[in-house]
Amino acid sequence: MNRIKSDYLVIGSGIAGLSFALKVAEFGTVNIITKSHLDDTNTALAQGGVAAVISAEDDIESHVRDTHVAGAGLCHEDAVNVMVSDASSRIRELLDYGVPFDVTRNGDFDLAREGGHSRFRILHVADETGRSIQEVLIKKVREHPNICIYEDHMAVELISDHHVLNNLQSAFNICFGAYVLDEIKAQVRIFSADYTLLACGGASRVYLHTTNPDVATGDGIAMAYRAGVRIANMEFVQFHPTALYNPGQEPFLISEACRGFGAYLRNGSGERFMEKYDKRLELAPRDIVARAIDAECKSRGEACAYLDMTHLPPQDVLSHFPNIATQCRDQLRIDITSEQIPVVPAAHYICGGIMTNLNGQTSMHNLFAAGETAHTGVHGANRLASNSLLEALVFAHRAARRAIEKKRNIYTNVAIPDWDDTDVTNQQEWRLIRNNRSELQTIMWDYVGIVRSGVHLNRALRRMATLYDEIEDYYKRTRVNKDLLELRNLSAVAYLIVRSALRRSESRGLHNMSDYPEKDDKFLKDTII
Ligand SMILES: Cc1cc2nc3c(=O)[nH]c(=O)nc-3n(C[C@H](O)[C@H](O)[C@H](O)COP(=O)(O)OP(=O)(O)OC[C@H]3O[C@@H](n4cnc5c(N)ncnc54)[C@H](O)[C@@H]3O)c2cc1C
Repeated sequence: MNRIKSDYLVIGSGIAGLSFALKVAEFGTVNIITKSHLDDTNTALAQGGVAAVISAEDDIESHVRDTHVAGAGLCHEDAVNVMVSDASSRIRELLDYGVPFDVTRNGDFDLAREGGHSRFRILHVADETGRSIQEVLIKKVREHPNICIYEDHMAVELISDHHVLNNLQSAFNICFGAYVLDEIKAQVRIFSADYTLLACGGASRVYLHTTNPDVATGDGIAMAYRAGVRIANMEFVQFHPTALYNPGQEPFLISEACRGFGAYLRNGSGERFMEKYDKRLELAPRDIVARAIDAECKSRGEACAYLDMTHLPPQDVLSHFPNIATQCRDQLRIDITSEQIPVVPAAHYICGGIMTNLNGQTSMHNLFAAGETAHTGVHGANRLASNSLLEALVFAHRAARRAIEKKRNIYTNVAIPDWDDTDVTNQQEWRLIRNNRSELQTIMWDYVGIVRSGVHLNRALRRMATLYDEIEDYYKRTRVNKDLLELRNLSAVAYLIVRSALRRSESRGLHNMSDYPEKDDKFLKDTII
């Protein structure tokens, strides 16, 4: 069947999509589509945990303040207040679902503290919090009678009144669902719905080095942008200082806990270099360490730096970091107790995205967005650690509540045309796709990375324009496939990041311009495209 209708369509199966689906499923039918397996998400990789004011020694005001300090003046006050105040209710819900957050011997939550938090407030399940949440949510959605799951289904485009123009005269931009590629059958199907949620996660695959899985190609942001939806603050990209440097292999995060435990950072000559950059040395905040590694590598022409734990007691290293030890051994045959780990900063999180209000509504009628794909305003110019799982939970909940309240079946008679691929062929130019993708990622890494300048950004924009035209031309001639669609989305996201970065002639939070090294309050506002 090529046309599938439900009350609610959910695009993406991370924490935002699944938690939304469970709620609206109490009131209507739900289709969840996801472009790979259900658990192929950023959510499943989250290690640290979820921030929430739970302890009697903590308070809402401190969490709000910490979030604003990290966000460098750009956090939306109302959104931060909502997120922080709703946190404990959402955590209770996860507990009811069955997420086994760690507790101490006394039965209290085992709360951790992370960079930028003034209190112990991070709930976690060992160092696999995201995996645990993902598994619990998957079990719940599989059991729900109102939910149908479609894996290997990739949303191609949102269906808007633009597509059904002959049937509906409307002054609004309305979403009726999405055209979706069924990868197994290699055909595009119509998933129509009264309400659609974009929960497609992040876009960090736009960079050469990233901690994100393959699926993080910014599809939600790109589809929304093409549908004329407002996008905000795409210049704020968070880089994690230490990902394992192993080009071509699956990304792996080397936790900040290693530096907290006493690991040193060294350059290719074996010198500790952090003292040149910050007096807190290896324990400086995440963005400062990332900038320092980037500067050291660029000035020395080296591809990576090294994390050294060889001076620490081997048994302690192995007992604290068993997962890191295994990955380094399996991927690079490195024994972390006697050898240094090659590391590189890597794109980790996109603070900007599809603009939403406090109820997850976008500027397109009947389209909601939640999770990393959305811009709610809580992160401002820099995300506070462990606030992203929380943001996804809180705003997916509010979006669900709003979607349930709204009247349904308003546009039942809209005729949506089939996907038209009559004039296209299977070009099979996989080499072009592969080369364009790596060229795009390299341009983004070299010119739009941790430290930027007007000259570099303009150079990137010029190269991007050529790539963009080439990709669009190829797209118009070719039967759609996943690689091509991802490349097209990556090029849209890259363009949005560069355009947004060029509009901000200052350095604030994660956006660092070498030609404008200071904050300038002329830019104390969101960058909206
Ligand atoms: C290594 C790592 C560690 C992290 N640690 C933490 C942490 O400790 N605490 C914290 O708060 N945050 C952490 N984060 C960030 C956090 O995990 C993510 O921001 C969050 O999980 C995003 O959830 P989401 O539901 O928005 O998206 P995701 O979990 O990424 O899910 C997106 C879904 O959309 C699907 N999708 C994408 N495009 C399409 C399409 N076109 N069609 C159909 N489906 C599509 C994907 O396949 C996927 O199922 C970490 C991130 C990483 C990478």
